Amino acid sequence: MKEIILIKDGELALKGLNRSTFEDVLIKNMKEKIRSLGEFRFVKSQSTITVEPQSEDVDLDEAVARIGKVFGIVGISRAAVCEKEIGAIVQTAYDYLKNELAFAGTFKVKAKRSDKKFPYDSPAICDEVGGFLLSKLRGLKVDVHNPDVTVTVEVREKYAYIHATQLPGAGGMPTGTGGRACILISGGIDSPVAAYMIAKRGVKLTAVHFASPPYTSELAEMKVHELLGKVSAWSGRINLFTVHFTALQEAIRDYCPEEMFTVTMRRIMMKVASRIAVWQGADALITGESLGQVASQTIHALKCTDECAALPVFRPCIGMDKSEIIEISRKIDAFDISIRPYEDCCTVFTPRHPRTRPTPEYAREVEALIPEEERLIEEAVKSARLLVIDAYND
Ligand code: ATP
Ligand code: MG
Repeated sequence: MKEIILIKDGELALKGLNRSTFEDVLIKNMKEKIRSLGEFRFVKSQSTITVEPQSEDVDLDEAVARIGKVFGIVGISRAAVCEKEIGAIVQTAYDYLKNELAFAGTFKVKAKRSDKKFPYDSPAICDEVGGFLLSKLRGLKVDVHNPDVTVTVEVREKYAYIHATQLPGAGGMPTGTGGRACILISGGIDSPVAAYMIAKRGVKLTAVHFASPPYTSELAEMKVHELLGKVSAWSGRINLFTVHFTALQEAIRDYCPEEMFTVTMRRIMMKVASRIAVWQGADALITGESLGQVASQTIHALKCTDECAALPVFRPCIGMDKSEIIEISRKIDAFDISIRPYEDCCTVFTPRHPRTRPTPEYAREVEALIPEEERLIEEAVKSARLLVIDAYND
């Protein structure tokens, strides 16, 4: 039996005249995700996009799983394709859904007829299909208000489509419709979640990671690559820039008061990341900070870091508890990677008693103690190495 995938797009419905453009972006994003699985044809009609495999041997389970991570989709259904003839429709509905219906107590049939020349109208299609299923499946009952399974029959231009359970889509907006932002990515739990949340709103990602060898290991960098691999399964391609941060961190350690190590480091991270972000055409920075989680994430500390950013800073985890962040981390399959115990540059020179209420004036004074800060920042920016991360197109 020939099967296709039916896509219901999400908030796109709100976009009025832009809708078609948004759908085109959505189709492009789906194509990118499933290109390596074989050839597919994409057709837009009303609020549905059909994805039709062009050969028999396509792994449709995998295609559905990948499309489940494409932002801008509310629902995904697999559907059987059949000839536009009532006998074929009735038989296909039974063959295709008998297993699913065998576990259901109740069902209803919904018909949509976009081809008005089809000789049966919608109520007649429901009667025919419903009657046949009831005659074949003992114990099954009709419940039009709250059925366990809704059998949908869509009679369209060329074929009829039959489907039941709709899987939830990834929600959000199609990647690429919301500009570009730059995530400051560590190997921790929070920043990959922050990246995912911003990508969900249609934003393309550039990433910056600060590595401080030999204090941080290659394994810590590999961890970041793997984490971004998980994020890119949702967000698509990510340009990762790894910055050599050792000289700056050593300068902070050598010249700044210990209680200000982390805030000063964070300020300088903002400066370096801002330059890479602007050069990459990003319009915002993203961090995984959550208010009050640690000393460097108090409202006072964030005020000190923010003033060093050349772009707006988005912190999608700001109001979330760790448990809420972990829930999303698990959902995107990042958690088990995040908890691997490699040193991040943040944990290299951790102050014993960080100042929790630094003022921007004091932070500036402290930072001014670093000799040749500007030269070190420039060198750090120049040291950035690019790695393209794309989960499904490597
Ligand atoms: P995470 O779980 O994201 O590491 P965290 O709670 O451990 O967050 P910090 O280590 O204080 O918090 O880092 C706060 C934020 O600073 C991170 O969410 C991330 O955006 C950024 N950051 C920290 N370390 C790095 C790094 N090595 N490279 C790039 N950004 C970093
Ligand atoms: Mg961290």
